[in-house]
Amino acid sequence: MNPDPIRRCVEALSRLPGIGEKTAQRLTWWLLRTSTEITSEIALAISSLQDSVVECETCCNIAASNPCTICSDTGRDQKTICVVERPADLLAIESSGEYRGRYHVLHGALSPLDGVGPDDLRIRELLSRIPGTAEVILATDPDVDGDMTALYLARLLSPLEVRVSRLAHGIAVGTEIEYADSVSLMRALENRRELPG
Ligand SMILES: [Zn+2]
Repeated sequence: MNPDPIRRCVEALSRLPGIGEKTAQRLTWWLLRTSTEITSEIALAISSLQDSVVECETCCNIAASNPCTICSDTGRDQKTICVVERPADLLAIESSGEYRGRYHVLHGALSPLDGVGPDDLRIRELLSRIPGTAEVILATDPDVDGDMTALYLARLLSPLEVRVSRLAHGIAVGTEIEYADSVSLMRALENRRELPG
């Protein structure tokens, strides 16, 4: 830890993804000029974040409650599950406003090179939800790992009585679902294609 409070703040902020030294410096000077009411709220929001969220036991999303608000919403379609890699992907699809089913968060994608296998993902939890489910929409990223994961899940689900579909291409290859715009996501959902069982 740097004994200089300004350097300490710059170094701490630089550890955030996407924040370089320059931006960290700019943020630090902004924090110095801002009211303590605002800086305290920022500090509190960050420091209490990990203690105030839980993993939903149904969909494995990171949320403020278990079950999460989506799983406990009886107005949503209970028979459709959209499978995503990360909680941020769920948020992106939610904000497209098009989808009214439920979700399942895998917490990653299969990646043999990085040593990520099926047991590292929430696949067992997904399988336990299949009875009573009519359709599983695979919304993993359109990249090598995401495609491999979708293929793996499609094979795993094929003996079960459930329709399996994959988001249509409409999202550029290599784009993470998280960063796709709402219109593309909406179109990809509408034009999803069924995978042969
Ligand atoms: Zn949930």
